[in-house]
Amino acid sequence: MRALAVLVGLTAVAHASTIVELDADALTRGADRIVEGTVVSRTTRWNATHTGLETHAWIATTATLKGVSDPLVEVVVLGGELDGGRQIVVGMPAVAVGETARWYLRGRGDGSFRIFGWAQGKWPARGDGTFAPAPVLAERDTHVAQFTTNGMVWPANKIPVDYVIQNAGSADLSLSDVITSIDAAFATWDAVPCSSLAFRNAGMTNLGVATDNTNVVLFIESGWTFGAEAAAATSLWIIDGQQTADIAVNGEAFTWAVGPPGSGVNTNRLDLQAVLTHEIGHFSGLGHTMRAFDTMYYSWNPWQSQRTLSIDDKLGLCSLYPTAGNECGTCPAGETCEPYPNGTLCTGTPDPIGAACNYDRVECDGFCLFTAADLSSGYCSQFCATNADCPPTHHCDEASAGGMTVKVCFAGEPPPPCTTDDNCPTLQHCDVANGVCTFECRTSEDCGPDHTCDGRGNCVYLGDGGGCGCRSANPSAILGMLGLLLVGCRRRR
Ligand SMILES: [Zn+2]
Repeated sequence: MRALAVLVGLTAVAHASTIVELDADALTRGADRIVEGTVVSRTTRWNATHTGLETHAWIATTATLKGVSDPLVEVVVLGGELDGGRQIVVGMPAVAVGETARWYLRGRGDGSFRIFGWAQGKWPARGDGTFAPAPVLAERDTHVAQFTTNGMVWPANKIPVDYVIQNAGSADLSLSDVITSIDAAFATWDAVPCSSLAFRNAGMTNLGVATDNTNVVLFIESGWTFGAEAAAATSLWIIDGQQTADIAVNGEAFTWAVGPPGSGVNTNRLDLQAVLTHEIGHFSGLGHTMRAFDTMYYSWNPWQSQRTLSIDDKLGLCSLYPTAGNECGTCPAGETCEPYPNGTLCTGTPDPIGAACNYDRVECDGFCLFTAADLSSGYCSQFCATNADCPPTHHCDEASAGGMTVKVCFAGEPPPPCTTDDNCPTLQHCDVANGVCTFECRTSEDCGPDHTCDGRGNCVYLGDGGGCGCRSANPSAILGMLGLLLVGCRRRR
């Protein structure tokens, strides 16, 4: 599926494994039911096939914003703790008794619900009685080591960690391409010199995702259970003294390829090695970062640069498996050798605010602010509160991210209001009512039901009369990131 993106990063909420970003509109569209309420009880048990843990939580609702109103709603989250064992599905939201939030839910077919968009579909309650993702401004400082860990650490007697590859392979790739991509992604982490973690390809298997002390990488071509918005999911198990890490790749909703530069934004075609490199970071014990330069960046990075590790990625791994080692002498062009407590590492430099970025190259210190609906152009930007947070050549301004407003650094002075399309860059049009150049869609999927995206990025109503008042809600709101757009779409019905 494809959805409009939210720019907001959530500090307090663990982000999913490689998962499509969803803004408030997309969450609302995708959810069967939206409730506000408090978790009143919770229990963890094995699933029906005894292959995984499920945590069942009951939410006492105080409001129902979409769907049928029920005083009590059962929500099922994958993973949990049982009898001293633990299963972590990286990015699944927590459901603690006493916790109050707005919950975006999707039916499981048995009367219970899952949380749509993983952690994105849970908006914690704030002190003032409203519900929102955590504030974005806490994410602005990107100039310190940003790595996080997820609780999984492989003990020395398990290293090298064996992994096996499911022999069913992928519907999109030859088995040899699958194996080559998987081995290359593991080798990237194995090569970090200040880490003692190592991996070993232990052959093929027909096993699947289960707590069986066997670490499997597999494609799931039908019956994907992690939510269609997830491109891949890593499950970590620490049960009965055994550790298992399984990486499942979503072959049902996505097409997989070997490094397709310029693969285009209107497909769900992803580079397998890039996505696996991120997932193996989770497999190794790492969580997410807030910088697009990092492979462990919290969102969907289809571009190939996710295949290589940033300094923060390497420092994160070395914090879990420290050993002495020197990387320098083999630094790629453009990287410099820096001393670290246990040796030296090659450190690249993220692109600063204002540097060019596009779908195939996002090496930003923050994120890429796309300026064309086809994502062929853009520049690196960051969150801001005032102009003082931006370089002198930029200004801080509001942009719409679906139902939320965020502030980011825009290049140049605030532009004069446009009056016609001629005042706007290619692929944008003038929203005359607000005097801003904008676009609101790339494909009809961005527009919602009964609307289509015309050649200039307008959502156009297909039905009779009414029309569509989709427009960006804020000045200069040409904002997108992560291969997805950030525009507010307000339809008249
Ligand atoms: Zn992830």
